[in-house]
Amino acid sequence: MTAKNKPKPKHVPQRTCVGCREVLPKRKLIRLVKTEEGVRIDLSGKLPGRGAYLHDQKSCWKRGLKGTLANALRTTIPEQDLAVLIAYMEGLPESIPESGDAQAEETFDKD
Ligand SMILES: [Zn+2]
Repeated sequence: MTAKNKPKPKHVPQRTCVGCREVLPKRKLIRLVKTEEGVRIDLSGKLPGRGAYLHDQKSCWKRGLKGTLANALRTTIPEQDLAVLIAYMEGLPESIPESGDAQAEETFDKD
């Protein structure tokens, strides 16, 4: 019989979701980068620039786009980039809202 040797866990870089502040292995998060042209979704994880991370779920993006993302990137997200981010968010799955957090139900007001 063979003992099931679990491989030792490798060191995985941990990142914080700026929407919910949960710390996760970064491959489970979506990276957003502040570039010279604005804020970009960095699916490759390789764009240079200041980065911030968000969960792959709407509730975190809603919170992030309301301000925590811009804060984390120390920038103001240009309106046209915000539109792109909102469009991306619309394609994400809803998440289970945290109990007692009614804010996640608000619709994002893009002005
Ligand atoms: Zn999150």
